[in-house]
Amino acid sequence: MNLILLGPPGAGKGTQAEILSKRLGIETISTGVMLRTAIREGTELGTMAQEYINAGKLVPDDVVVGIVKERLSKDDCKKGFILDGFPRTTAQAEALEQAGVRIDKVLSLEVSDETIIERLSGRRECKDCGTPYHVVYKPSANGDKCQVCGGPLIQRADDNEETVKNRIQVYHEQTEPIKEFYQKQGKVVVAHGREELADTTREVAKALGLE
Ligand code: ADP
Ligand code: ZN
Repeated sequence: MNLILLGPPGAGKGTQAEILSKRLGIETISTGVMLRTAIREGTELGTMAQEYINAGKLVPDDVVVGIVKERLSKDDCKKGFILDGFPRTTAQAEALEQAGVRIDKVLSLEVSDETIIERLSGRRECKDCGTPYHVVYKPSANGDKCQVCGGPLIQRADDNEETVKNRIQVYHEQTEPIKEFYQKQGKVVVAHGREELADTTREVAKALGLE
């Protein structure tokens, strides 16, 4: 299955992508993770992306389209993939189509703006490996350390209040129209980001016909 996860920042896309990856045995491709990895490694891409990300703006389409195309060309994507955080603009969705990438389903994970703000403020990630956590919804089994690598948990620079407001606005203006793009192709299924992770996971599975 070639799947896109669509939804506002903080909807829980990353967490659901991880669960679906295991369940379906396919890779998750997260542009947010790839960009933050580039920032951590101090690459040219990372230095460029950092300014946009910390301002709550989108990284330019051609840059993001380039890294996603390269990633999708790898062998491990042949059996399917989950795109998390891409496409984020109609131009990105069109570029994917032009590249001949088949999309089977688009899962729209929906939450209110108020919920987004609450969620993002509790979000943490491992400084060393990038694994995402939430102080309430998805705490680390290893206390204030990463349960995967033992690294320290930090708040993302773009989860501060001002940047979050920009990200929500950018979402409504630039990303939400993608839903209609895929609705016209009959590919959209909807689930709600519930308070309880297990409820969200169940709704996602049902929307995708996995039960
Ligand atoms: P969230 O979905 O919680 O906003 P992500 O980790 O997906 O977080 O993205 C963080 C930031 O990385 C975005 O605010 C944006 O600046 C940049 N980014 C990620 N994916 C894309 C994309 N497809 N196009 C442009 N910018 C992107
Ligand atoms: Zn870690």
